[in-house]
Amino acid sequence: MKVRKDCGMGFFSYILNLLFPPKCVFCGKILNNPDDGWCDKCTESLPYTDDFGKQKGDYFDFCISPLYYTGVVRRSVLNYKFRDAAQYAGYYGILLAECIKECPDTEYDIITWVPLSAKRERKRGYDQAKLLAQAAAAELSKPVTEILQKKHDVQAQSELGDKPERKANITGAYKVIDQEFVAGKQILLIDDVITTGSTLDECAKVLIDAGASRVICATLARSE
Ligand SMILES: [Zn+2]
Repeated sequence: MKVRKDCGMGFFSYILNLLFPPKCVFCGKILNNPDDGWCDKCTESLPYTDDFGKQKGDYFDFCISPLYYTGVVRRSVLNYKFRDAAQYAGYYGILLAECIKECPDTEYDIITWVPLSAKRERKRGYDQAKLLAQAAAAELSKPVTEILQKKHDVQAQSELGDKPERKANITGAYKVIDQEFVAGKQILLIDDVITTGSTLDECAKVLIDAGASRVICATLARSE
């Protein structure tokens, strides 16, 4: 997939770039063009999915993902989530938006994301799925809003094994903030990575139960 790689930086960023030369968000190489998010080699060699990386869920029609969660993509996403690399969101958003634009049958009214718990967000300083959803929405010129809330912390899905275990862990963890707002809407739900799909399915179930007419999902990467 060939896509634009810059997210329109201004003068302030130019000064910052002189002080801290920007590196490829995937492989870490210093970039020739500081406005690019990733290098030419990564443009050629990222693990792009075929057919939009579609996966099906019980409560969402499909989830699309531009990349596989492997190699430099995995390393990059782990940096994004755990090493204070919130600025990656703008570049991820470009890739994700391109995949959403190109995929047929992706009609939706509004974009939202799989939220962190308030406690986890405070600890990390940002909600990575929210930043990704906002970045993608900006690229798509579509509305984005907070619709779901995580009621309490659960054990990290990545620490658990198979699908039944993950499903049991996440059941009942989310709620819709304003049911009336959701009723009749087609929702595009965004997260960073899809693994078994249990988390997205639980969020989609809560949205459908609240009256959403349809849920489709998009993640930056898929694990398999
Ligand atoms: Zn690179």
